[in-house]
Amino acid sequence: MARYTGAVCRQCRRENQKLFLKGDRCYSDKCALARRSFVPGQHGQNQARKKVSEYGLQLRAKQKAKRYYGVLESQFAHYFEMAERKSGITGENLLRILESRLDNIVYRAGFAMSRKEARQLVLHRHFTVNGQTVNIPSYLVKEGDKVAVRTTDCDKIKECIEKNSARPVPAWLDKDAEKMTVNVTKLPERADIDFDIEEHLIVELYSK
Ligand code: SF4
Repeated sequence: MARYTGAVCRQCRRENQKLFLKGDRCYSDKCALARRSFVPGQHGQNQARKKVSEYGLQLRAKQKAKRYYGVLESQFAHYFEMAERKSGITGENLLRILESRLDNIVYRAGFAMSRKEARQLVLHRHFTVNGQTVNIPSYLVKEGDKVAVRTTDCDKIKECIEKNSARPVPAWLDKDAEKMTVNVTKLPERADIDFDIEEHLIVELYSK
């Protein structure tokens, strides 16, 4: 499967926003965005003065969402089609779908330090959904689903739970750190998603 292999901190610097792609480091003062908060590249420091077109803003919003959730272009376009088919506000539907991915749930629950690490753990069959092992990071959970750590003796996951004990778990997830489970009590509303993005710009981009 194709994947981004470049320096991940460049992605945050390009979007001028923390995308939390590197686990521990993102919460420390080693964060590259804190140290060099300008666009990467030779002319990065001059970019702030440039006027961004409407299309540019829409493109940046889409890229930011893709990078935040670690989704590739074709899959993102597929999620947009799904969001359009659902009733309600398309932008909010899109964010709800992205939040429902199993790798995102694992990360949000604090069983991994980043979505990338969560994806790896899911691929390695460390999680079950409603008692069944699932090794598909893009698996979409539903309201009422129970995600559990299958390999409760995994040191990596135990370490993440300990490190993330202070990180808040979203209200729509009910986590039991001792049992290493998380229940999806409901799918999130827009107000439940702490991602600073203007999702209507993505809808405008795809509606051209
Ligand atoms: Fe982004 Fe994390 Fe790198 Fe900071 S440390 S720039 S939040 S990936």
